[in-house]
Amino acid sequence: MSNLNQGNRQFAVIGLGRFGRAVCGSLHKMGYEVLGTDIDEKLVAQVLTDRIASHAVQLDSTEPTALKEAGIFEFDTVIIAIGNFLQESIITTLNVKEAGVAHVVAKASSEIHGKLLERVGADRVVFPEYEAGCALAHTLTKPAILDRFDLDPDNSIVEVLVPEEFHGKTIAELQLRNRYGLNILAVGEGEKFEINPLPNLKLHKGTAMVVIGSNKDLQRLPI
Ligand code: ATP
Repeated sequence: MSNLNQGNRQFAVIGLGRFGRAVCGSLHKMGYEVLGTDIDEKLVAQVLTDRIASHAVQLDSTEPTALKEAGIFEFDTVIIAIGNFLQESIITTLNVKEAGVAHVVAKASSEIHGKLLERVGADRVVFPEYEAGCALAHTLTKPAILDRFDLDPDNSIVEVLVPEEFHGKTIAELQLRNRYGLNILAVGEGEKFEINPLPNLKLHKGTAMVVIGSNKDLQRLPI
């Protein structure tokens, strides 16, 4: 959802392993311009064959001239998806940041790797395996959460089943904002969602509602 008002952003992905390919493919599907790069020619050709990036270039990202020639420094967001090659990952991040790229997201494969990436200027460090593990644990223990969008590490939008306790009550009666610090963005009505529901709308168990709030407050929902 963070891309809603950033329609003309362009992304470059360095490293086309499983993670890099997934980033490329998802951005491409959403209609963004994505340049994919890797040192391995076969992986570069593969993303073009599979049509998961608009452009793809073979290059060694530890060489600043190669990055410059490929136009990487013109992108406002560069994703460095090199997990296993610590040295290459650090040097690439340093190169891209030193050249002035505004947003650099780098994948870390360990805590120390993450710290190093931050030290050389990464604006955001992601730990995909760790984050996926945490998200899975969340969904396993809170099966009523149908979908979840993390706005930042502390705040989320979640789609949950209306809890038993809320059944037959109106949004006003529940006082979600006062009692839980949460806001209901939408309520499922059959196949469709009613967006910005009025306070007098009654909730029904088994239907879905979309709620925004801090993770701490969301944890307190009786689901
Ligand atoms: P996965 O997402 O599959 O778990 P990973 O993050 O562990 O992958 P790595 O094996 O670390 O992936 O590398 C990702 C890609 O980065 C590989 O395809 C590799 O060829 C590429 N790569 C490594 N060094 C460089 C470099 N110097 N320049 C460009 N690409 C590189």
